[in-house]
Amino acid sequence: MFAGKTTLLIERIEALRQSGQSLRVLRPARDTRSLPGSIQTHGGAHASAIEVERGEEILTAAGNAEIIIIDEIHFFGDHALEPCRDLLRAGRMVIVAGVEIDHFGKPFDPFPQLLQIADSVRRLQGVCARCGAPSTHTQRLIPASDRIVAGGEESYEPRCSTCFVPSRPNRGDVGGGRLS
Ligand SMILES: [Zn+2]
Repeated sequence: MFAGKTTLLIERIEALRQSGQSLRVLRPARDTRSLPGSIQTHGGAHASAIEVERGEEILTAAGNAEIIIIDEIHFFGDHALEPCRDLLRAGRMVIVAGVEIDHFGKPFDPFPQLLQIADSVRRLQGVCARCGAPSTHTQRLIPASDRIVAGGEESYEPRCSTCFVPSRPNRGDVGGGRLS
């Protein structure tokens, strides 16, 4: 998050469209930050996308496209894993983007398993909102006990591993009381 992930994905989509291969972009319907039927960046770049309610629906939504692109795949959790495996077995190209670590500081499914089957992985870094170092974490600024919380990105900011304070799952608040 805050590292230009969707910008990069849209650039990739535009480049792949030039290749002449059939392509479908999927995104979770639960992610309400983008306009319906699209993925978009803060800067206004966008690409059309099919909204998918549940991970189990990925295969159907993928249709016969040769290239399947899934943004914000962590919204689907483990349910995205088998569909991705099935698509790869069928010889399709699968490109996914998402957040690898949640605001508790724990691995975000399905990333640990997906990373094992990925041919290539590109990790993006933002800039820590506190100290300016490269950021690898997403700091939640508003208390929440769920891993995925509907809402805008104003509820989060990028943090480096030193400045990151994990949310506490049981109390549903952000850790450390250091947020002001
Ligand atoms: Zn920092």
